[in-house]
Amino acid sequence: MTDAEKLAAHLDTSAGPFACWIWTGSTSDGYGNFWRNGRWDKAHRVAFALHWALTIPPGMEIQHVCNNRRCCNPAHLVGGARTANQITRRLSETIGAPAYRLARRYAAGTQPINFTQEA
Ligand SMILES: [Zn+2]
Repeated sequence: MTDAEKLAAHLDTSAGPFACWIWTGSTSDGYGNFWRNGRWDKAHRVAFALHWALTIPPGMEIQHVCNNRRCCNPAHLVGGARTANQITRRLSETIGAPAYRLARRYAAGTQPINFTQEA
């Protein structure tokens, strides 16, 4: 079984292409566990690497714009340097998590823009 097949076998994508794709296998600290190349990796990192056909370089963190640790939808995952991610976390603390999550979803294109909606 390839990594892509193993990933697909453990994802609940029933909510559709724009929703979170939920890892149904085991988790650690909320993140999906994925056995790959003789060691445990995180399922969302494997999903990101497979989707973009790349090896995640050292120091690169893969973040969820949906703040759902079990989510493996590549549209909800962004890669960034550790320091950049620390800055965005600080921003989240400053403006508040709900407003921050909404802003990230707008930026990722996963949140339809409704100009009458209160943030
Ligand atoms: Zn998600």
